[in-house]
Amino acid sequence: MASKIDNFVSSLVEEDKKKDPKLVVTTRFPPEPNGYLHLGHAKSMYLNFGIASDFNGRCNLRFDDTNPSSESEEFLKAIIRDVKWLGFRWSKLCHASDYFEELFEFALHLIRSELAYVDEQSYDEIKLARGTLVEPGVDSPFRMRGAKESEDLFLAMRDGKIAAGLAVLRARISMLSPNINLRDPILYRIKHEKHPRAGTKWCIYPTYDFAHGQSDSIEGVTHSLCTLEFEDHRPLYEWFLKHLPVKCKPKQIEFSRLNLEGTLTSKRKLSTLVENGLVNGWDDPRMPTIAGLRRRGYSAQGIKIFCDRVGVTRRPNVIEFSTLEQSIRDDLDVRARRGMAVFEPLKVSILNWNRDFLELNVPWNIRNPESEFRSLFFDKNLYIERSDFAINPPTGYRRLEPGGSVRLKHGFIIDYVNHRLNANGQVSEIFVNVDFETRSGSNGSSRKVKGTIHWVEQNTAASVEVRLYDRLFCAKDPASAKNLESIINPDSLIVKNALVEPALNSYFPDTHFQFERIGFFYQDFDSVKENIVYNRTATLKDGWKSK
Ligand code: ATP
Ligand code: MG
Repeated sequence: MASKIDNFVSSLVEEDKKKDPKLVVTTRFPPEPNGYLHLGHAKSMYLNFGIASDFNGRCNLRFDDTNPSSESEEFLKAIIRDVKWLGFRWSKLCHASDYFEELFEFALHLIRSELAYVDEQSYDEIKLARGTLVEPGVDSPFRMRGAKESEDLFLAMRDGKIAAGLAVLRARISMLSPNINLRDPILYRIKHEKHPRAGTKWCIYPTYDFAHGQSDSIEGVTHSLCTLEFEDHRPLYEWFLKHLPVKCKPKQIEFSRLNLEGTLTSKRKLSTLVENGLVNGWDDPRMPTIAGLRRRGYSAQGIKIFCDRVGVTRRPNVIEFSTLEQSIRDDLDVRARRGMAVFEPLKVSILNWNRDFLELNVPWNIRNPESEFRSLFFDKNLYIERSDFAINPPTGYRRLEPGGSVRLKHGFIIDYVNHRLNANGQVSEIFVNVDFETRSGSNGSSRKVKGTIHWVEQNTAASVEVRLYDRLFCAKDPASAKNLESIINPDSLIVKNALVEPALNSYFPDTHFQFERIGFFYQDFDSVKENIVYNRTATLKDGWKSK
């Protein structure tokens, strides 16, 4: 998008830039590789990469890989793929694990400055002594341990001489602070676990709080943008910067998280869905993950339009789901190829068709002057949508009815002659005449009818699989649900067959389609030549508004 980021963050950065014109604005996007990226991350990337680009600065992609228990190579690769696909270009690809050595030195510095100590209480004891929002914490019996002793113990921790859970390194700040984050937070814990990148080199790992700010500082980050939950961590972030020999003091700025109505935007919750088999993997097209949205047929541009519309503020809020769908519609409407597909076929026979089939050459996208063309075939027998014919139409019906006429898209106007019912009294076939003077695109006829409908020709139509996706949950706030399984929308995936015009029955990777009057579709990677599969990206209109 050409438009510049314009929000309170960009204003703050601009002020800093005015004070120091030489400032190289540096941001970072810091995912933990413990899941796939979702729309919340897209918002964060849009901001971080956008600010860097607007101010001719830099933005790093940094993996906050400090907890080997939940992180994996699969997640790392998936994140890189998604960032690239969205079109964000990092200045440097970094890993917090690259800084383990420096972070360890920082920890030693705090110990030697009497600002950190090794605590041998258990996790439970530490937790209990932390106090609450209304009660102060209680000092650990190890709190006044001398620097030398702490250093020896810390080295023993690093050398694998102490079992997990028996010791941690804590900052010595204050157990009386009204801010719980400052009550001697844990800096290092023992984990005898192999790290995806560092291997078995370490058996102590820094906590998020200790690693994050220091990594920012090592990378020369000038503006560390994070979500509002970290506001209470900012005093700790600044405490580290004050007491450590760092070369750069980033400024932490918080903004509100993306919350999307009816959707989960937390990796932890999304991983529950995957692990319990409630969806078909992280890239299930119903997932709000970048991989899921891509598979469903969302475009990177559509997601960016959404991020732009959502904006960035400090006000917690919930975005309506329709904002997302409208963003993708607005993008695809311009770019998608058009094609015709019939979902509930009703046979139409043209009584006066006394000639050979007709080949029609139609552009894939009339709105694009450079569009390529596809071949459509028109012949005596067609299918239209069952709902496009009604014996007793409601008022305002603009399709086919007894005695009426309708235009077939790209074809002719047809005039109703008769219809046949089956044993159940259901319409099984319609008989019509075609008005040969009314061929679309020819200038000969001035005849007008109220409606235009889509169709496919019987001999050339192909059957494809369509996967109709809808919202994954039937609850507005799934994050507060006790049991996710109970709120899964049973209609979130309906699989059926549809008849498509012949041009749609080939393999089209990475091509967006609009099936005329139905919705946007995108081929799934499950497609094979003999069985093309289309995922519904979005309907053409918001069907939930009326629900
Ligand atoms: P999750 O709860 O999904 O795991 P997280 O914050 O723990 O989220 P990280 O991988 O640490 O996930 O996030 C990387 C960056 O993305 C962080 O800067 C974080 O603030 C940002 N981010 C994560 N979720 C959202 C969201 N819903 N809205 C905006 N930014 C988000
Ligand atoms: Mg996190």
